[in-house]
Amino acid sequence: MKCECGRYVPKGNRCNSCLEKDMRKAVGDQTGSEKLTVPIGNLLAKETADAIGQAYDNFASIELKARGRHISRAVDVLEILKRNHNFKYEVTSGTAELTSYEGSPIRVSEITVTITKILTYV
Ligand SMILES: [Zn+2]
Repeated sequence: MKCECGRYVPKGNRCNSCLEKDMRKAVGDQTGSEKLTVPIGNLLAKETADAIGQAYDNFASIELKARGRHISRAVDVLEILKRNHNFKYEVTSGTAELTSYEGSPIRVSEITVTITKILTYV
């Protein structure tokens, strides 16, 4: 399969660098709000964490949302962020009811990681 930029991609329809561009735009678009919401998808954990890390100072809290097979990636992103930043976090889980391509209902696990910065007063 080919990405719109011309690179071949093994699966999905976008390459990692196009996905990274999308992520940086999505993060940038939320500048000015208190909370940054990041849907965890096909973009690799390191690039996702980099995009969040660069915008980290612009938001009071950050929410990572992931479903199904992307849940482990959300944990990877959280672990990378923990290495570089000081925050507390809370994980909530649930089940989303979705509709499959065939139109039948499917249940998918989902998690939300809410990251709240620890403010340090100097
Ligand atoms: Zn591409």
